Amino acid sequence: MLDLAIIGGGPAGLSAGLYATRGGLANVELYECAMLGGQITGSSEIENYPGASKVVSGMELMSNWQEQCTRFGLKIKQQKVKQITKIDDGFNISFEGNSEDTQAKSIILCTGSIPRRAGIKGEDEFFGKGVSTCATCDGFFYKGKEVAVIGGGDSAIEEAIYLAKTCSKVYLVHRRDKFRAAPNTVEHLHNTKNIELVLNANCDEVVGDNMGVIGLRVSDKKTNKERLLEVPGVFVFVGRDVINELIKQDDGSYLCDINEQGEVLTNLKMTTSTKGVFVAGDMREQASKQVICAAGDGATAALSAIDYIDSLGKKG
Ligand code: FAD
Repeated sequence: MLDLAIIGGGPAGLSAGLYATRGGLANVELYECAMLGGQITGSSEIENYPGASKVVSGMELMSNWQEQCTRFGLKIKQQKVKQITKIDDGFNISFEGNSEDTQAKSIILCTGSIPRRAGIKGEDEFFGKGVSTCATCDGFFYKGKEVAVIGGGDSAIEEAIYLAKTCSKVYLVHRRDKFRAAPNTVEHLHNTKNIELVLNANCDEVVGDNMGVIGLRVSDKKTNKERLLEVPGVFVFVGRDVINELIKQDDGSYLCDINEQGEVLTNLKMTTSTKGVFVAGDMREQASKQVICAAGDGATAALSAIDYIDSLGKKG
């Protein structure tokens, strides 16, 4: 039986693996179903990771993590975890495909979240080439330029206000005429002079060329009148989906408590409502959804897992 199984090989999972093995856990496996390094590997330019002083791509940023994180004995397996269930002395882990189940005394969940796409023509084609889902990450690239934000919830409005500080103008495109956001946030929006509201609008197409995005084509829902917003950046904030299906049990309950958004509830030690289950990164409640924060969570979760294994008195 493993001391610890880490699910997800993004910044949270890799950091958890480093801290767990360097901290003395001898039998630790990490499972990653897609690109080791996580969602950040899809980003073309990162400039807010401390220590990486030049602008780097997500692939570049994460390239050394695997080597460092496996130096103390972490084993990484390319497998998709299907379900985690509680057993008498720990947890059972089943996988997609034909792999045999494995068992672990403790689990760190680091499966992250996926920004929801708006489903607009051209959105996937230009994702990372002008289409973004992260204003904190990519907003600075449009300093002094005009951008469009799609969405009508709290995060869309907050990100539009954030972008308005560096961009010359922000078009906030929403399919309704009212926002489903906190009144204070909406008031702040109305007080921000360089945000133009494009309401009751359908987003029809992200338009671009081989250099990237050149505009967002929208149409009025009532009149069908079309308009091309000439922007090099389109920010999509239509929600995020946490990846938590692997902790869903056969009876519909979850391995540990989650909130309405499906995010795992935790405390500052990254422990969850189920003993032996820890969480880190984007999939936890109130995550800042940044690489550095995910890495910090991973380290904290690993230290808590070590304490937990120690408390079982069966370390090794
Ligand atoms: P993730 O990075 O999402 O990693 C989770 C991993 O778990 C994934 O690799 C996934 O394949 C794997 N996984 C999921 N389910 C399973 C399963 N069932 N079995 C096995 N593996 C599974 N942050 C910044 O700090 N600066 C930036 O400039 C920045 N730019 C960004 C640009 C883009 C385009 C995007 C999408 C995000 C950006 N972010 C940025 C946010 C940052 O990428 C995330 O906050 C961070 O990656 C979260 O790390 P994580 O380890 O929690 O999750």
